[in-house]
Amino acid sequence: MSLVLNYPKAKKLFQHAKANHYALPAVNVTTSNVINASLEAAKTTGSPIIIQFSNSGSAFFAGKSLDNKQQQSSIIGAVSGAKYLHEVSDAYGVPVLINTDHAAMKLLPWVDGMIKHGEAFYKAHGVPLFTSHMLDFSEETLHENIEVSKRYLEKLTKLDMFLEIELGVTGGEEDGVDNTDVESSKLYTQPEEVAYAYEELLKVSENFVIAASFGNVHGVYKPGNVKLEPAILKNSQEYIVKKFKTDSNPVSFVFHGGSGSEQEKITESLQYGVVKMNIDTDIQWAYWEGIHKYYNKNEAYLQGQLGNPDGSDSPNKKYYDPRVWLREGEVSIRERLIEAYKALNSADRNKGLSL
Ligand SMILES: [Zn+2]
Repeated sequence: MSLVLNYPKAKKLFQHAKANHYALPAVNVTTSNVINASLEAAKTTGSPIIIQFSNSGSAFFAGKSLDNKQQQSSIIGAVSGAKYLHEVSDAYGVPVLINTDHAAMKLLPWVDGMIKHGEAFYKAHGVPLFTSHMLDFSEETLHENIEVSKRYLEKLTKLDMFLEIELGVTGGEEDGVDNTDVESSKLYTQPEEVAYAYEELLKVSENFVIAASFGNVHGVYKPGNVKLEPAILKNSQEYIVKKFKTDSNPVSFVFHGGSGSEQEKITESLQYGVVKMNIDTDIQWAYWEGIHKYYNKNEAYLQGQLGNPDGSDSPNKKYYDPRVWLREGEVSIRERLIEAYKALNSADRNKGLSL
């Protein structure tokens, strides 16, 4: 049985997360190794996990050599990754949310392709193929952003999915999108903008989460480069509570650019309804670091198929077998993610949830 969650289950999880001030890590994956290491971390820590595919990460998953002019390899990569998760999640015994990351207006053919596959999957199995898709229309006007998002929210709601939108701009550089020079006011969303999105999206359905910018940056830079202001999230929640007379923390927020963030800012944001924190760059580094350490430790056994300190004809097969060195990358990812669960106050949460 697949343990991939639909929106009703994700909603239950997000409510539990907000009530208990924790968030789940969302890992950008590029290979089955990264997926397996993430599932292993979730299993070890006893909590659900969010697996997400970026546009170019999806294309990489299907294979770099494939033509992606019409988004076909990004579509098939994300779809095959999601299907893989439906198959394997039960073996790990962990609840999984599958998201797709930043899709700007020009990447809508990618989203449309995934929805088409998602509709067929829903028809056949009665459950969604993906838990959510993200739209990032932060280059557009707020009005345009929300109008187009509403159209997609309607489609996703029919599939028991949810939608992640972006308000304001995440700085830095990721997945070929360079926002390193964006003017700093755009990095901080206004409460009025969040309230507008909340009110408009709710006219369609409640199946949405919001990535509001509070100084977030993709990538890891030297300290002091990022000035996170989680109070923006607090102010937005309070503004909405007052305006629409809701319960506290009505919005489920997403924290982009979690890599390299200070613990105190992460902890503070958890008070204001953050339920998901994206972690990509630190996982990329962990993957490489595991392999790098393995290489340094075994360098003398990795220079040729034969010949090492034990003898000039001594075979090195058991050192260069990819299952050995890729495994070191996986272990390193697992350990970094276990850290992330601790930082997000979300270790050992399965027992408080009946999903
Ligand atoms: Zn992001």
